[in-house]
Amino acid sequence: MNARAKYCNKNPGHPGFIPAPEFSLHHLPLELQSDIVLRYVKNCSARTVQLSTRYVSPERPENYVFGQLKGRTNPRLASGWVCGVYFLGGPCKCHECSAEGAQPRARCWELTVVTACSCVYNSEESKATKVTFFYDDETSRNNTKSLMGGEVEYANAGEDRCAFACITHDEAFAVQMDELRKERVFLWQSILSVAPFNMQHSQCIVISHPHGQSKFITVGQQVEITSRPEASQPYYKYMADTCPGSAGGPVLVLPGLDCPDPGWLPIVLHHSGALRDTENSHNFSGDRSTLYV
Ligand SMILES: [Zn+2]
Ligand SMILES: [Zn+2]
Repeated sequence: MNARAKYCNKNPGHPGFIPAPEFSLHHLPLELQSDIVLRYVKNCSARTVQLSTRYVSPERPENYVFGQLKGRTNPRLASGWVCGVYFLGGPCKCHECSAEGAQPRARCWELTVVTACSCVYNSEESKATKVTFFYDDETSRNNTKSLMGGEVEYANAGEDRCAFACITHDEAFAVQMDELRKERVFLWQSILSVAPFNMQHSQCIVISHPHGQSKFITVGQQVEITSRPEASQPYYKYMADTCPGSAGGPVLVLPGLDCPDPGWLPIVLHHSGALRDTENSHNFSGDRSTLYV
């Protein structure tokens, strides 16, 4: 446990946080104890990343989170996940290949990483963000892989969603991430064919890097789907524990009998903490969207 986690006020002792490699069937509610659900959680866990960023763009509005710190260095930690993999070919135009005297690589791949817009606001901030893959536990620290963020592909402060590119020259890594993406589609369809599950309440599973530690998984009941005005997508309220650093991590919603639209199998992102419901200490997602999942 790092020092921030040790002195955590929000979830002292972190009892509900399960180290990702230890997550197994018995951590799931009885109705969800199937191999297909476990594979789905493990698949999303493998695509979950730690983000370490250090800059606040001058473009952040004054009244937005971190807006008071704009233009300044401000180290902060968050989570995110890989939702897309694309072969770009070459010559590569990444930061490394564009450096003076560099020989641009002939082959490169773009990974799309999604996180909260409150964590990474625009390209200026994503380019100052280090993305760490496979930081599953302390023993896996030497097997992690890190890339710097590239251009933002999509950012929407209202949805609290940001998607940015990461360029890699490592074919084996890109293929591995793409296989996971394809497997996720298969698992998604398999789960939807049995949803809703025969349980009273839908369940939310959060995968994240609390306090910048290695990867942890928490499970908790969905409390409410909060509708929003006009054509906006709703957001979710849930009891699964989260801490600072969890923002931007995926929240897998597994529909129970209380789910009004079981044809969905949303992966939403964890919004920063319990800011909107401090009294009941429920946690909130960003809005449900089919974009960048
Ligand atoms: Zn904590
Ligand atoms: Zn390159």
